[in-house]
Parts: sequence; C-alpha cells; structure tokens
Amino acid sequence: MVEIINKNVAGGIAGRRSGNPKGAVIHNDYGAMTPKDYVSWLAKRKANGQLNLGFAQYYINRDQIARIEDTFNKAWHTATNEGNGWFLGYEVTQSFGDVVTDAEFIENENMTFMQVAEDFHFYGLKPNTTTIRLHKQFSSTSCPHRSWELHGWSNSSVQNYFVKKVKEYMNLGKTVDQMIKATNKKVVIIAGSGHIETEGWKTMNNLTVGMTGKSRRLEAFNLIVKVDGKPVNVKGSLHIEDLGDVTNNTNLFGTMGISKRIESVKLNIDAAIEYRVHQQSSGWSKWTKNNQWCGIKGKRKRIEAIQFRVVQ
Ligand SMILES: [Zn+2]
Repeated sequence: MVEIINKNVAGGIAGRRSGNPKGAVIHNDYGAMTPKDYVSWLAKRKANGQLNLGFAQYYINRDQIARIEDTFNKAWHTATNEGNGWFLGYEVTQSFGDVVTDAEFIENENMTFMQVAEDFHFYGLKPNTTTIRLHKQFSSTSCPHRSWELHGWSNSSVQNYFVKKVKEYMNLGKTVDQMIKATNKKVVIIAGSGHIETEGWKTMNNLTVGMTGKSRRLEAFNLIVKVDGKPVNVKGSLHIEDLGDVTNNTNLFGTMGISKRIESVKLNIDAAIEYRVHQQSSGWSKWTKNNQWCGIKGKRKRIEAIQFRVVQ
C-alpha cells in the first residue's frame, strides 16, 4: 500500500494556472530523501523564503506520494515559464547514488507513473511525447539522470518509456489505488551483503552478493527482504565444504573465519523471487525457483556470487 500525503506546503506561491495543465514533467530528484522527508524539508525552505530554489507538485517513491502543491497551481520545477506554468512536476525521489537499488528506483518510477496516470485521467490528457516531457527539454540539466541511464540515454527512448508506462497504468484504472490493485504485484525489496574471501563484507550490488571474476569464495551472506512492506524471515540450507548441508532459520547464512566454500544454496524467501549462483569453472547457473537447490554439490567448486531477481 502507498501512503498518500497531501500537504499544501507551497500554498500557491508560484501563482494559479489560468487553465488546465498541458502535461507532466517527470523529474529525478538527485537526492536521497523520501517524500515524507521532502515535506518537512520544503516546509523549512518555505519558512526561510527559499522555495524559489525550486519545488514540484509531487514527491514520490514506492511507498509514499506527497503532494505539496495543488495541481491547479503552478510550481517552480523547470526554470521556464512554459514548464512551470503549464506542466505538472513529479519528482521521482531517491535517485541519487546507491540510496536505493535500480529495482527499487524503478518501483519509485512506477508509483510516479501511476500518479501521472491518475492526473491525466482527471484532466483528460493523453500520454504522448508532447504531454510527457523531461526537465532537460526545458532547460540545461542532467535531470532525469537516473531514468536516463536506465531507459536508453536519449530524450526519445526515455520519453517513449514514460509514455508507454503511463498508458499501461491509465488502462488499469482511474486512481492510483485502482491501479495498484489491478497490478496485483508484490513490492519486493531485497538488500544484504556478502562476506568474501580476503575482501570481507561487501554490500549487495545489482541484487548480487559476492563478486565474480576474482576467484574468491563467498563465505557468508545476509539478506534483508521485504515483501509488500513486511520483513521476510529467510530460511534455507547451504552445502558447505566439509560441513555438508547446513540448515538455517535466520537471515544470515554461511561461515566466517574458517575458510570454507559454499557449494550449493537453497533459500526459502518468497515465490516471487528466483536466484542463481556464479560457481567456479561453470560460471552463472540457471535461474532457480524459490526453495530449490542451486549450485553443484560435492565437486569442490566454490560459489562466488548469488544473484536474485523478482518474477511475477
Ligand atoms: Zn528536474
């Protein structure tokens, strides 16, 4: 479920539009804050007379939608009168660095597309490359920097992706709630880290614990998994050098300080999750369903990395 926060922080400071909006500008915030964080941060800016530094109507991630200005009012989000006056601004938040994984950021985008879809229904707008625009089409900026990297590095490919997604969501319902229900998808978040031979603990990257191409064994890993906002207690078994099959009911697996390789893994996380292992001399295995063994036992081959994906 998404938390809707309607707080009119800006209070019409940029003036009222003299008609309906022409479309949407979908931004990346180049920041780390959640929508809730933005509400209080922008309230402080308002109090200090600093909203002229910029604000959009919406701040959105996968869990929260904050509307800080009414959609009939203007916002200062494109550095042009046309964009500020006639286009609604949507900030996809947490785009900066590794604050969230790509998979999480894509969920942040998806929630944003749903809000755009709801507003397009409301204002009778049709999604196309005239109505759905990028900040950099109005003024010189790298925004939307992360969507740019994820969806093709050009105005047309990023816009076409945005348009396609907004269309999809508009077909699912008139409101964000209806769209969420219609997708019937679980929101799956996976994080964690791996303990690697000679390297020590390394944070999960690209949904992968461990590392490839360095001939280092993955000795232990921990997983932090949330499905629809609820923490999942990951259970499973590892086949470990000299120890055989070892079962575990906590989110931490493997051994440390005794130089033992993991040869096979079986993890019971959630039906929406699959995994594969990168193993000595054989490389990446096939994707394996939840709660199935993955990796070759008994051949003295170390697992170097485990990668996860969400399938639904
Ligand atoms: Zn922007």
